[in-house]
Amino acid sequence: MKKIVTRFAPSPTGYMHIGNLRTALYSYLLARHNNGKFILRIEDTDRKRFIPGAEDIILNTLKTTKLNYDEGPDIGGPNGPYRQSERKDIYLEYAQQLLDTQKAYYCFCDKDEENDSPEGHKCDCATLSPAEIKAKLEAKTPYVIRQRVPKEGVTTYHDHIFGDISIENSTMQDIVLIKSDGYPTYNFAHIIDDHLMGVTHVVRGSEYLTSTAQYVVLHEALGWETPEYYHLPLIMGRNADGEVSKLSKRHGSVSFADLVENGYLPEAIINYIALLGWHPKDDELEFLTLEDLVREFDADDIRKSAAIFDYDKLKWMNEKYIANLSLEEFGSRAKPYIDQVLTHNLADYEALLRLLQPRVQILSEIPEKIKFFEALEDFDINLLANDKKKTTLENAREILKKSIDILNKVEAWKNEALFSTLNEVATALGLKPMSIMWVIRLAVSGNLVTVGGATEIMEVLGKDESLTRLNSTLDRLQKMQ
Ligand code: GLU
Repeated sequence: MKKIVTRFAPSPTGYMHIGNLRTALYSYLLARHNNGKFILRIEDTDRKRFIPGAEDIILNTLKTTKLNYDEGPDIGGPNGPYRQSERKDIYLEYAQQLLDTQKAYYCFCDKDEENDSPEGHKCDCATLSPAEIKAKLEAKTPYVIRQRVPKEGVTTYHDHIFGDISIENSTMQDIVLIKSDGYPTYNFAHIIDDHLMGVTHVVRGSEYLTSTAQYVVLHEALGWETPEYYHLPLIMGRNADGEVSKLSKRHGSVSFADLVENGYLPEAIINYIALLGWHPKDDELEFLTLEDLVREFDADDIRKSAAIFDYDKLKWMNEKYIANLSLEEFGSRAKPYIDQVLTHNLADYEALLRLLQPRVQILSEIPEKIKFFEALEDFDINLLANDKKKTTLENAREILKKSIDILNKVEAWKNEALFSTLNEVATALGLKPMSIMWVIRLAVSGNLVTVGGATEIMEVLGKDESLTRLNSTLDRLQKMQ
């Protein structure tokens, strides 16, 4: 069997949409599963839309997600250059071939350019005589080169996901192949590149499903075999009213960078989007590393129906990924979020990590969850009195006094030791442990809801800071009378 060669051919738009990343992933998996080759090509011929830094975003995303390519703009390869803007001269040769064989023509209309109207471009340039063309060229009249599409017949090609696609040639337009600035359009450049780079399988979004028929006509005009096609179904989002529509910002983050910033782990994102439109043979398999995906991936199992991006499911999956990290790895991923709110060292940073790791779905929840470790804020002191926990302001005062007293003597400031100490306080005061825990937890955190209980929080804070906070809460309570 011929070696499979796939490519990811993004236009540098300035961000990596989830749909694009899925295209990259499936292209990568199709190649890797079959011991094939995966190429990265930057489609940047639209110079009007040049966005500085946009290519870096693509490269960094592929690096972070470990979708390693065998050839690409930064690593080179035998089929380079890998930026279309650097291949300008290559395309002209093929445009010339099409002009010579009457499959393309010069168009001197100033209407120009890529965005042919939906009704199609209408002009007489297709029928100009060689003498007229020569005269215009000599007069340096600006021109574009258009494809001359047959006006009759039907073009059919096979898509591996959507089946046979047939398009009436009469509905095709004489699209621009070379623009007046000499740059090729995407429509033209990608065909030449796929051919010259030996691409055997094209994986891309279903927005190209219809135009591909026209690309097939171009392949034939150039005398080239067409690659195999896999057009991926749309990714949808669920609207507030329960209906679905094309995934967009109103559904949530749609770029890889935004998801990562929100605290989704790249490996969880990759796992989740792999399942957006594809499933392994063993349907029970849900957690798949990139390695697992390479092994399991069969492009024949890509679904035709649109996939719905379910943020709750991703969150759930992310939580499991976070829980499975080593404590050290969790620490390094969580650090930027911890540093947003903690400016000084905690007594037991590791205890904080242990506390957080099983309680975080996405890393961006961290700052809010740990803010109280930075400083004890003035909370409503009346909250110390709680019917359910059987506490009153009076017994809270006793609890605090007694606890401070006994805690002062504790040397090994660890959760277990602190836990039994507070139980001693309960026995000494003839109160329930839950009453003690309520008062102490509030007194050291100032929060009704906290990651971890009273003693875990104190372990993180350390002895000095815990006692300072207990004393300050006791002071406020004393000042109330
Ligand atoms: N540059 C095109 C895009 O980003 C690529 C389409 C293709 O893969 O052929 O949509």
